[in-house]
Amino acid sequence: MTAARSAKGMEAALRAAGYRLTPHINLICNRCGKIQDLAEPLPLSPEYLAAKEGFQVMDYRMEYYGLCPACQGRIKNQHSATNPKKGDQHEQP
Ligand SMILES: [Zn+2]
Repeated sequence: MTAARSAKGMEAALRAAGYRLTPHINLICNRCGKIQDLAEPLPLSPEYLAAKEGFQVMDYRMEYYGLCPACQGRIKNQHSATNPKKGDQHEQP
């Protein structure tokens, strides 16, 4: 039986991975993969869920997917540049 052992290992792994029970929202860019941390209050806090549903929250995350300002700018530039020749554009390595 290694149940107790693996549970301990799991806990350590979670701590090592930096899991934290503080309000935490991620803004994730679909294009470049940049993740921005926001320390904003969550719509449903663990305290609220514990009181309302009797559910003990051990971890949570809130993720918003979309486009970061930099990528929005790049896309706008691509759309406004209606030149068909490719030599003009900067190539990203
Ligand atoms: Zn981006």
